Amino acid sequence: MEWWVSMPKIELHAHLNGSIRDSTLLELARVLGEKGVIVFSDVEHVIMKNDRSLGEVFKLFDLIHILTTDHKTVTRITKEVVEDFASENVVYLELRTTPKKNDSIGMSKHSYMEAVVEGLRAVTAVDIDFVPHKFNTQDSLNSIAMNDACDGTKKKKIYVRLLLSIDRRETTEAAIETVKLALEMRDLGVVGIDLSGNPVVGEWNTFLPALKFAQEQGLYITLHCGEVLNCQEVQPMLDFLPQRIGHAIFFEEEEWRQLKTSKIPVEICLTSNIKTESISSIDIHHFVDLYNAKHPLVLCTDDAGVFSTSLSNEYKLASTAFGLGKKEMFELARTGIEFIFAGDEVKQDLVETFDSAAKKLNL
Ligand code: 5GP
Repeated sequence: MEWWVSMPKIELHAHLNGSIRDSTLLELARVLGEKGVIVFSDVEHVIMKNDRSLGEVFKLFDLIHILTTDHKTVTRITKEVVEDFASENVVYLELRTTPKKNDSIGMSKHSYMEAVVEGLRAVTAVDIDFVPHKFNTQDSLNSIAMNDACDGTKKKKIYVRLLLSIDRRETTEAAIETVKLALEMRDLGVVGIDLSGNPVVGEWNTFLPALKFAQEQGLYITLHCGEVLNCQEVQPMLDFLPQRIGHAIFFEEEEWRQLKTSKIPVEICLTSNIKTESISSIDIHHFVDLYNAKHPLVLCTDDAGVFSTSLSNEYKLASTAFGLGKKEMFELARTGIEFIFAGDEVKQDLVETFDSAAKKLNL
């Protein structure tokens, strides 16, 4: 197995509906095609298209949501996505998703999230820990020890924590509803809030009350920041002091300076930035500057399904493009532990996982 696959990795920026397998999407499209809800041949072409602009990506998401937004499917894709990350040795995953409401099928934001949690419970291929220990009761215990005892063999283990996304199309009230839901679901592994969705839609001030409320309540916050040129937003987003930001592409000089001073960790999504042409070529990617400045950063997939990538592939790509060796890439993965939205106990366990992998991989 290649080292970028076998080494443990931390994934902190993965959108649930962007991480679905192509095969699952095609299967769902075929079924809806047979029911006459969509025209399968049109949809197949859209799903299999390889390079998409950022605008086309958001059109694809509208289609994906038609295919996936019912409770059973949400449960299925959650299970598959977790198992896919675990199979490439992701040992800690923060999965983000936008709670959706669809009255016509009796879906509320709450029931959508229950379906997600059901998907976590349905994971069997690996040991999953998604309930923070302080909330762990006998009932919710789906722990490692139980799985070990069942078949006598040690399975792979993955920690999963959930972030609820506020979609930039939403109103202040809808965003606050999402934050309240996150607070209600803390005992089911929800640890924070993400602001995402089409970056040319909506305004920072619309989401600020909800984000402030989340911050006051002690939820962790990560923001999609500087994905497109928007002179009005980057500065207030950095002033807000989120625990992490995603992308950080279109920054002015002063904003780079502020970012570096604040030491806010950046979730870097190389393939996503290249495929959407947000960055024209990998050799000018800001990864290099941030890495050389020892700025906190973590490699992530963004949408492994939509961009046909995997976290292992992102490590391989960074290694090749920036001339970093196995040891440097391993250290880069390990530093991700510092930026996770989980407590010291989880961090300590991950440190031990990396230490033991370092021995096995001769690092
Ligand atoms: P979901 O939240 O439905 O599970 O995952 C898909 C959603 O995540 C998209 O509809 C969009 O709101 C958000 N998303 C996925 N990829 C990106 C991205 O690259 N940039 C931004 N801003 N949002 C994204």
